[in-house]
Amino acid sequence: MWNGLADRYPALVVRPTHADDVVAALRFAREEDLLVAVRCGGHSIPGLSTCDDGIVIDLSRMRGVDVDPGARTARASGGSLLAELDEQAQSVGLVCPVGVVSHTGVAGLTLGGGMGRLQRKHGLTIDNLLAVELVTADGRLVRASEDENSELFWGLRGAGANFGIATSFTFRLSPLEGVVTHGTVLHPLERARELAALFREAVETGPDELWTSFGVFAPAGGEPIATVSAHHCGPLEQAERDLAALQAFGPPIEGSFEAKPYLEAQHLNDEAMEWGHRFYMKSAFLHSLPDELVDLAVEHAARVPRGAEGGYSTWAWGGAIAGVPEDATAFTGRDASFWMAAEIQWDDPALDDSCRDWARAAMTDVSPFESAGRYVNDVSEADERVTSIYGDAKAERLVALKRQWDPDNVFRLNQNVRP
Ligand SMILES: Cc1cc2nc3c(=O)[nH]c(=O)nc-3n(C[C@H](O)[C@H](O)[C@H](O)COP(=O)(O)OP(=O)(O)OC[C@H]3O[C@@H](n4cnc5c(N)ncnc54)[C@H](O)[C@@H]3O)c2cc1C
Repeated sequence: MWNGLADRYPALVVRPTHADDVVAALRFAREEDLLVAVRCGGHSIPGLSTCDDGIVIDLSRMRGVDVDPGARTARASGGSLLAELDEQAQSVGLVCPVGVVSHTGVAGLTLGGGMGRLQRKHGLTIDNLLAVELVTADGRLVRASEDENSELFWGLRGAGANFGIATSFTFRLSPLEGVVTHGTVLHPLERARELAALFREAVETGPDELWTSFGVFAPAGGEPIATVSAHHCGPLEQAERDLAALQAFGPPIEGSFEAKPYLEAQHLNDEAMEWGHRFYMKSAFLHSLPDELVDLAVEHAARVPRGAEGGYSTWAWGGAIAGVPEDATAFTGRDASFWMAAEIQWDDPALDDSCRDWARAAMTDVSPFESAGRYVNDVSEADERVTSIYGDAKAERLVALKRQWDPDNVFRLNQNVRP
């Protein structure tokens, strides 16, 4: 598992190479009454893709992405990683919006929503999802799309780990020239307020091609800093104009925004987020990012336990995400202005409690600024109530769907919708 905190011992690990194997594994698990974990990229933050004593159906041998350049679609097998989807789509000048660390699994990311640097231009990953093939709890291979099993398709887009084992995903692709303008710039923490003001202005006045994030961060053993990242997928001259104010702010401690291949940008976080560290996070959607909240973030950044690295990250939301009606998918939180998370990483097990406590306290102070919904893929606690993630009405609709497709709750290692 990616998260070093998720240390479990399944009785059996099955590595299918084909959907028929998935059906056979699931039938066996049901006959033997085994707890079932389903694994793609293994990046579940609470470790939901493994278990003690049960069976892990690990799709890591079902990888590969086929692109149809004429139809502008991609079909990704259920165990694929983001890097494969990015590389295959870019090989013909196309793209599907996905997350920012290329070793994350396509399945887990997509079934929860899928945030990333192209989200203001092209929406969440689920907003580009055309169809899913999945093995259901009763061992059938079914397809869900807008035309086939459309209610299931609604639930798969945001609560998808609850309804079956996805063996393939079909995505719509969009053109993307290979080069984007991208970078992260670090500034002294004392300038966090001014930097946040520039970030807000960039979000409010910038085009959908521009995605930005603002953060305050304490590196292990170092002084906390303020940071801003930007990713512009429009023409280079337009990017230069749209990023001029952020670029001019300073002098920075380090960093700049530069033209680089999209695929290079997609790998830049891979090492910092490598496998095996201990990790905890909490996130929220925000209606605003006032100075008061920036000040709170600065205070908490100074309290990150010694030996850990952690801080807040705030992403520009809106654009194409807000263009999709809230009811169109199970995902909840489209009307937010920002997404904010407190994230912390460490290696020493003796720090487990203090690091978790840090993140919890950090996000408790954020709650007065929260808007509706919660991103299911960021929920670190296995027992978060689904109503807080999806709201009451959608949670009810999901329960009805769960009763129809998985009445025995075979798929319960997820943020569980109980039948
Ligand atoms: C380093 C890192 C970076 C991240 N960056 C982003 C980001 O930029 N944007 C973003 O939106 N999210 C991001 N996330 C969150 C990420 O989307 C979730 O952790 C996601 O669940 C990981 O998917 P996975 O396939 O790697 O995980 P897994 O641990 O394999 O699975 C996660 C969940 O999905 C279920 N599942 C897995 N495969 C299948 C399948 N084929 N069918 C049905 N259910 C399945 C599992 O049972 C489990 O409940 C990041 C997480 C990490 C750890």
